[in-house]
This record gives sequence, structure tokens and C-alpha cells, in this order.
Amino acid sequence: MALMKTPINCPFCGDILRSDFITSYENISMLEKKCDKKLNHKITFRAFTNNEDYVRYICIPISKDVEARWYFSEEVFDIVNHKTNMLFTLPWFNPDISNYNKLINKIQTYILFS
Ligand SMILES: [Zn+2]
Repeated sequence: MALMKTPINCPFCGDILRSDFITSYENISMLEKKCDKKLNHKITFRAFTNNEDYVRYICIPISKDVEARWYFSEEVFDIVNHKTNMLFTLPWFNPDISNYNKLINKIQTYILFS
């Protein structure tokens, strides 16, 4: 099982992540922390409020309609297309969130060859 500590700062720009409490589609209370105001990157972390020290999933948009999601407890990596409502599950990899461009390139290569 992959684990990631819920960060305080955006791994890409270092700004403090904006926190919100939301309800998931399963009606579970979650902590959402995101950096979504920058033009060159966006990232959202979600954690269950009863286990908020660890990330439930990370979501990174890779284009206007497409986003990548890493679900840590199940080690599931999904590509979601909101325009076509398509979801592709690709082989899991631990996202290296220390380098945004490298990560986006890796995801795009993955999509290309799957
Ligand atoms: Zn940021």
C-alpha cells in the first residue's frame, strides 16, 4: 500500500495549499488541499477527515478536460476525461511530485503507450 503524507505546501510552487472541507460522492467527509490559482500547474490532494495526515488521492489536471488521479490505498492510477466521461486505469506508479514537468511528461508518455 502506497502512503503519502498530506502536504502543507504545494510541491510545485511552495505556496500554502488552500484547505476546504468537502463531501465526496460516497458522502464521506474529506479534507481537500489545493493549489489551483497558478497558470502553469494545478494540484489537489484529498484526505479522509478521519485520516487527514495521509493522502487518499492526488489529482492533477493534464489538459482542460483530462486529469490524472492516484488513489494511494488501492494503488490505482486513473486518467479521467470529463468531456467524454471516459476513465482509463493505467499501471500504478508512485508520482514524483518534486518536478511538475517531468511528471506531466511521464503521464503523457504513459497515455501514449497504453
Ligand atoms: Zn502551486
